[in-house]
This record gives sequence, C-alpha cells and structure tokens, in this order.
Amino acid sequence: MKSIIAKYIAFLLLATLASIATSGLISISILNKKHQESMEDRLFGLTAVVASLVREVPRERLRDAVGDAARTLGMEGDIRLTVIMADGSVAADSAADADSMDNHLDRPEIAEAANGKVGFASRKSDTVNKRYMYAARKAVLKNGEECFARAAAPMERVESSAKQARASMITAAAFTLAAALIAVLASSIMFAAPVRRLTEMSAKISAGDFSARSGVSGDNEFGVLGRSMDSMAESIERDVAELKRARDDIENILRGMRDGVIVVDSGKRIILINEAVEEIFRVECRNSSGKPLLSVLRLAALNGAVDAVLADGAPRAIEIETDPIEGTVIDARIFPFRGGDADSGAIVAARDISRLKKLEIVRREFIENASHELRTPVAIIRGFVETLLAGASKDASALDRFLILLDKESLRLMNLTEDILSLERAQRRSSPDDAESFDAAALLKDCASSFDLFIFGEGLKLETDFPPEPAFLRMSKQDFNQIFVNLIDNAVKFTDRGVVRLKVESAADAVRISVSDTGVGIPAQDIERVFERFYRVDKSRSRERGGTGLGLSIVKHLTEKWGGSVSVESKLGTGSSFSVSFPAAL
Ligand code: ADP
Repeated sequence: MKSIIAKYIAFLLLATLASIATSGLISISILNKKHQESMEDRLFGLTAVVASLVREVPRERLRDAVGDAARTLGMEGDIRLTVIMADGSVAADSAADADSMDNHLDRPEIAEAANGKVGFASRKSDTVNKRYMYAARKAVLKNGEECFARAAAPMERVESSAKQARASMITAAAFTLAAALIAVLASSIMFAAPVRRLTEMSAKISAGDFSARSGVSGDNEFGVLGRSMDSMAESIERDVAELKRARDDIENILRGMRDGVIVVDSGKRIILINEAVEEIFRVECRNSSGKPLLSVLRLAALNGAVDAVLADGAPRAIEIETDPIEGTVIDARIFPFRGGDADSGAIVAARDISRLKKLEIVRREFIENASHELRTPVAIIRGFVETLLAGASKDASALDRFLILLDKESLRLMNLTEDILSLERAQRRSSPDDAESFDAAALLKDCASSFDLFIFGEGLKLETDFPPEPAFLRMSKQDFNQIFVNLIDNAVKFTDRGVVRLKVESAADAVRISVSDTGVGIPAQDIERVFERFYRVDKSRSRERGGTGLGLSIVKHLTEKWGGSVSVESKLGTGSSFSVSFPAAL
C-alpha cells in the first residue's frame, strides 16, 4: 500500500512539475519574443530616423549628427547609430571611431538591407564587446551617395527581462509545487486510511478470519466499497458457519456410526474416513485424507471392487476375510456417487460380520448335532415299534423288554428336547423381574436334597461346607437351581463311589460355589471343551446315564446371564471340581 501511495504522490508531483515547467517555458518564450519584437519595432523606427537624418546632413557633419541623435534618442546612451557606405566602410558611428572600424559589408543585417529589406541581426559586437541587436536599411546621403542606416541596441534589456521572467516563473513554480505537495499529501492521507482498513480486512478474510469488518463508512466511494465488503464478509461468515455446522453434523454422524465409512474420489484417494474403520480393519487411519485407498487398507479385493464400481457405476457388495486365523470377516458395500466430473467417486460402507459368521457356524453345527442326537432315539423307538408290530408284542417277555427300552429311549428324547429348550432359554437375556435375593447355601441344600436317596443308593457321600453367615445372591432362583442340579447330576453320574462336596465361600463382592467329586475326572485335552454343546468325553457312559451333552453348556450360559463365571479343575481318575462365581447381592 505504501508503495502505491508513494507512487501516487510521485506521479502527481511529476505531473504538476511537468505542467509548471511546460507553461513556464511557453510563457518565457512568449515573453522573449514579445521583447524582441518590441526591440525590433524600436530599431526599425530608429533606422528610419537615421535614414532621414543622413539625407539632411552634409557629409562632413555626419559624425556629430549621428552622435547627437544617438544621445537624444537613446536612453542612457544605450542606442548606437551607424552610417555605413555602400562599399562597407563606416561613415559615422555613435559609439566608436568610424575610421578604426572594419568593413561592415559582411554583417548579416547589412547584407539583408542590401537586398532592399530592413535587415535584423543580433550578435556580440566586435567593436564594443556587447551583445547587440541590429537593424539596417538602405539610405541616401545629401550628396546622393548610397549608404546604410543602422541602429543597434544592447540585448541586455531583453536578457534581463527574460531573467526576471524566469525567476518569477521559478518562484511561482515553487509555490505551486508546495501547494500541490500539500494537496497530494492531504488527499493521500484521506485515501490511505480507508484503503489501509480495506486492505487489512481483505488480508484477514483471506487468512480465514471472516469476522473482520472494514469500519469504513461515509457516502463516498470508499464508504460504498467498505459497506459492500462488510456485507460480503457477513454473508461469507454465515455461509462458512453453516458449512461448518453441516460438516460437523456429518462428522458426528460418521463418528457415531458402528459401520466404517470411507469416501474416495475417482482416483481412489480418500476424501473422508470415520473412526470405525480403524477398529473394523485394524489399521491406523488418522491423517489418511488424500492418500490412496490401497496404501491405507492394503486390501486388493476391496481396491478391485472399488475399481469396478468406479468403472461401471453399479453398486457392489463383497465379503473380505481379513484375518483367517481369528476368522475376521468384513462385509463391504460399495456405492458410486456422481456430483459432476470432478466430484465423482465411491462410498465404502464396511461392517465386521465375524460374530454373525461365527454364530451362523454355531447355529449350523447345533442343528446338525441336535438332529443327529434326536435321530438316534427316534430310530431306536421306530425299530422297537416295528419289531413289536411284526409280532414280537405277542411274546409277553419280549414285550416287557421292548417296553422298558422304549421307555428309556423316549425319556432320552424328552430329556434332549427339554435340554434344547433350556439352552435356548439360557441364551436369552436376563430380566430384572426374574431376579430375587436369596441365601445361596440354603437354596443349594434344597437342590442337593433331591439327590439324597440316589447318592446313598450309589454308595456316595454328600458333604457340605457352608459359611455360618448367609451368602446372598440376586438372580433367578430357577436358573440357580438348574445350574446346580446339572452340576450335582454330573458329579453323581461320573462318580462311582466317594464324596460329592458342595462348598459356598462368601467374599466382599462375590459368592463362589463349588461342586467337587471324587469321580472319573476329565482328561486334560478335553477340559477346555466340556462346555461346548453336545461335547461328551465318554459318549456311551454319558448316554448310559441319560446325559444329553448339553448340561454344562446350559450351566455356562445361565451363569454368564447373571454376570457370573464358571471354571473347572479336574484330574483323570481323581475327580473334578466345578466352581461358579456370582457377584454378591448388595
Ligand atoms: P452330559 O449330559 O453328558 O453330562 P454335560 O454337558 O453335562 O453333558 O457334560 C459334558 C461332558 O463333560 C460329560 O459328558 C462328561 O464327559 C464331562 N463331565 C461333566 N461333568 C463331569 C464330572 N463331574 N466328572 C467327569 N466328567 C464330567
């Protein structure tokens, strides 16, 4: 800005100076010309006077007459009158001795006068060593001889008046220049303030500060410009705030989404990416805007699908297995978007479907196992019924045997269907309405009481180790019952003789209940798997005792449903101990 104002001042001063100089030069030259013309007029008149004088005065008095005339006509003796003969010799001169003067025929004014005109010339006189203006014309002496009458006056007057004119011009120029300087400075100060404010404002706006205002008012052009810049800044500020809000909304929506969202341009460079992508693809996504999709996710399948969508504009859905060991599967849907040539691209919406996939596998396996388990007793029952129908029913002893077997298999079928239903119920979420507070030891004693007769019949002893204080739990009594009936049933089933011990331990925030036995125990390699559905270490023994292979699975789900956990310790041939921990009721 400074340089513009400086240039503006310099330009205005130069223009003022040029115009003063031009007008001064023109005035001086006009003035000089005027002076010269008036001098020429004067000399013209004087030559006429000298011409008439020489016609009247005899030759011998010529010199005195010329001297007298010069004194009379000239002011302060500045006029010089000369009479020059036709051959160039000087007959008389008012300022010098005519005899000592050289031939004047070569003088320009004489040469011009010889042609019949009035000749004018200006030069430095050799005779008197001053600059003179000369005028000469032809004249005739009294005796009829031809001659030239010449009048001369010093140029000093003309030159001094020119000097004076120049001096006054310079003084006037200096005053004009000073006045112009003051005017230019005042006007530039007047312009500089609003220009500075407008420039500062536009600098702030271009730096992103849209709250900047010019503060320039008034009815002049700057005021109009200031107001229109202010309203422009206001509308930009409003639009930017709106865009920011919209962008924040989109960012918040994307941040809150569980699905990963990636938006890429037509060159597969990332425009937008949300945080969920990091978790789904297990990659670092921060600062990945502008980077190629492949370099961030390193998934050739996804890259290829995006290519295909960008090529034909048809949406695609692919499943990508990102971690075969952990079984991580991602479902990616890719849609095109077109907002004009430069804005086209694709949106990738990704979701981790590993859990779904695993559940699908579990469900499929469960259906396979369940139908297999169901098929066996059904086939056996069918076989017995067919045999009976074929005539065996007529044999009373065979009928009895078959009916006992039918009873056993149908009971197994019933147990199986009941356990399947129990497992399904166990997998449902717990409802606070089902929960009630009770003493774990008291309820455990009730559970065990149904086994008493059976245990003694098998030669087993039941031992209890309960704390003196009640150990309160808050959960469904029915679920508690089902957990411990299953565990005690297993302990009895897999223990031929010895002890089944029920223990309740109460800590500050948890109640731990264990069911231990001195039975067959579980081989180390099977311990991890006993909670799986239909998993049985010894299938025939389990079946023999009416086991379905779902008991521990039901225990695990019911325990976890109420915030607890179950674990097992076992040694083959020595016995097993199942421990269940629940959060204590407050
Ligand atoms: P089941 O109906 O066969 O008892 P469970 O799911 O209750 O099915 O148990 C799964 C398997 O775990 C059993 O078949 C058995 O091999 C093993 N098991 C469970 N409890 C005991 C135990 N107390 N002693 C030894 N093995 C056990």
